[in-house]
Amino acid sequence: MFLTISTTGSPERPATDLGFLLHKHPGKAQAFSTSHGTAHVFYPEASEERCTAALLLEVDPVALVRRGKGKGRGGAPDAALAQYVNDRPYAASSLLSVAMAAVFKSALNGVCRALPDRVQESLPLRVEVPALPARGGVELARGLFGPLGWARVDAVAVPLDERFPQWGDSRYVRLVLEGEMRLVDALRQLYVLLPVLDDAKHYWVAPDEVDKLLRAGEGWLAGHPEQKLITSRYLSRRWGLTRQAMERLELVRLAESDDLEVESLDNAVDETTDTEERPVPLAERRREAILTALRSAGAARVLDLGCGQGQLVQALLKDARFTEIVGVDVSMRALTVAARRLKLDRMGERQAGRVTLRQGSLSYTDRQLKGYDAAVLSEVIEHLDLERLPALEYAVFGAARPRTVLVTTPNVEYNVRWETLPAGHVRHGDHRFEWTRAEFGAWARQVAGRHGYEVDFLPVGPDDPEVGPPTQMAVFTTAAADTEKTHGKTHGRTDRESGEKTKEAKAA
Ligand code: SAH
Repeated sequence: MFLTISTTGSPERPATDLGFLLHKHPGKAQAFSTSHGTAHVFYPEASEERCTAALLLEVDPVALVRRGKGKGRGGAPDAALAQYVNDRPYAASSLLSVAMAAVFKSALNGVCRALPDRVQESLPLRVEVPALPARGGVELARGLFGPLGWARVDAVAVPLDERFPQWGDSRYVRLVLEGEMRLVDALRQLYVLLPVLDDAKHYWVAPDEVDKLLRAGEGWLAGHPEQKLITSRYLSRRWGLTRQAMERLELVRLAESDDLEVESLDNAVDETTDTEERPVPLAERRREAILTALRSAGAARVLDLGCGQGQLVQALLKDARFTEIVGVDVSMRALTVAARRLKLDRMGERQAGRVTLRQGSLSYTDRQLKGYDAAVLSEVIEHLDLERLPALEYAVFGAARPRTVLVTTPNVEYNVRWETLPAGHVRHGDHRFEWTRAEFGAWARQVAGRHGYEVDFLPVGPDDPEVGPPTQMAVFTTAAADTEKTHGKTHGRTDRESGEKTKEAKAA
């Protein structure tokens, strides 16, 4: 199994930077043992002008057969024979993608300490996979890579035997991709699409495959014309997982289109503020109100659920009393912006040890959210469909159970005071609902009752005598919090990189 990645360069931008971006030195041939054999990384060429990295996976057929036991397709009648007659050692497939994940872990995560800025840059790239098993043939290969922004997608069928063209084509294609692309995007596409084309995933699909797929699909999978086929094949047609992935991709798509809109009302200045003072945007007032509530609750370890682009995480980091801050959002794009805002890649060990950003959906319970002092849901609930709200309620109040939960949401009664908002409109295109004070109060009291919390309400922004404040905040507290932590501390940066250092150190 073989794959090459090439780039070209100049004296100012040498092609050998590819070595830094892949975290693999061009001067050395390196071998890494993976669960299925040995992965070799070497550079057939490495000059300022041109650099090619090759990944060769030498499969250990014995290990493969042993591990293959109990795999999903094991029941097929030819399974016994398949142990001996097997193209796995020669074809680029899911094994290559597993090897990529092991060998290019940092690069797949978009991390490069040596050249942090170049990670974000597009490079002239050429990827070649000489023998790629493709169920669906060249058509599907083109259909999968075509919409991803490559200047050239060349998929040609490999004949069964060149001497006998009448025999027709094999099930392999030779794939060449060329174009200006960020290396991280190219690697993530290959990581997902090689096994999708092969369609013979060799290992058992675990539930966390959905997370892996969403992470690797960041920035290209949501909205891909073949999203359904990709998701279903990647998850070995496990329908439950596929449906979950499709739902989450839909949320990602919505959240990402949402990012593009300007939160204009949030940034509108509050006219009622004393003109001598600097007018304060509502978003800032909300953060201040949240910080005050967290401080008076004595919280040190805080979850920011639906953290968006990380403004609150940033404010929390400025106060040393908040010793552990976890931002969670369904939108990878928002998290990427957050990571950039926080300068996570340049943060010192100690600061980095206080903050984690994780991709996740709040409509699923997550053991890793247990054991925190407080959780904040700032302007998040109104982004969920009403029928999804019970799932979020359970995930937060039923499963995670922090001692304090702060929930803010717009007060729809106040909308008449926004001069720029046409009557009857919600404040933001993605708001699924906006509640009156009575509606929010009723919901919050029911939630508190169902889960053993007390609830208080605080206004945020000017409290209009008639229509109330622009933002309403509920402060939930319970004496029966779940303070037990079920996970080890992941230090710094985004969670998908946790464990990276140890693994890379082992590989090196
Ligand atoms: N808390 C931030 C952002 C609010 S915007 C602030 O106060 O400014 C709402 C955020 O919720 C978006 O970033 C969106 O991606 C996120 N979100 C929406 N539905 C979600 C879900 N089901 N799980 C996790 N995050 C979600």
